[in-house]
Amino acid sequence: MAAIRLIILGRQGSGKGTQCVRLVEAYGPVHVSTGDMLRSAVAEGTELGLRASALMDAGDLVPDDVMIGIVVDRLAKSDVVEHGFLLDGFPRTPAQAEALEEILSDTGADGVRAFNIEVPVDEVMERMLARGRGDDTEEAIRRRLDLYESTTAPLLAWFEEHGLLSVVDGLGTEDEVFDRLRTAIEAVSE
Ligand code: AMP
Repeated sequence: MAAIRLIILGRQGSGKGTQCVRLVEAYGPVHVSTGDMLRSAVAEGTELGLRASALMDAGDLVPDDVMIGIVVDRLAKSDVVEHGFLLDGFPRTPAQAEALEEILSDTGADGVRAFNIEVPVDEVMERMLARGRGDDTEEAIRRRLDLYESTTAPLLAWFEEHGLLSVVDGLGTEDEVFDRLRTAIEAVSE
């Protein structure tokens, strides 16, 4: 199978991070997680980190121009070009989706697919409260979920209209969800 290039969508708390780790093991792409990149920047105290930190704590989005710059640079690196990618946490807004469309039209969109790991709101709320990450206050979680519904969920329709979307049921054990993802990936990669 050629290097896979996947966009992993789903509400925060849908298990995207966990499934991405397993997909990396199985297929070898580079996990490009904008949330992880921002958290490293905050931990290292870089200029980006200083800028992003308060926004992340409040559950707000980091500005599009900043995010797009980061993702454009990362997807151009040789490891990604060679091994493919799992894009996780991006795009989150229409402007980011347009930027991604442009990147893909430059690099070729062949084989690019989006997978939505579908988990209902009530369930992700419970999961996020249980994991207790630093930026997981109830207020920030609500804000992130509201933003997802208003700004990110409409992007699913865009991927769907372009015939690029597969929906995977995200309820059940990690193994069950992973098996569903693998089946869906292999079905579209044939
Ligand atoms: P995540 O780990 O994907 O839930 O991201 C954690 C936080 O990082 C989000 O709540 C946002 O504040 C910020 N963030 C991550 N990805 C993006 C993005 N594509 N656009 C804007 N903000 C983002």
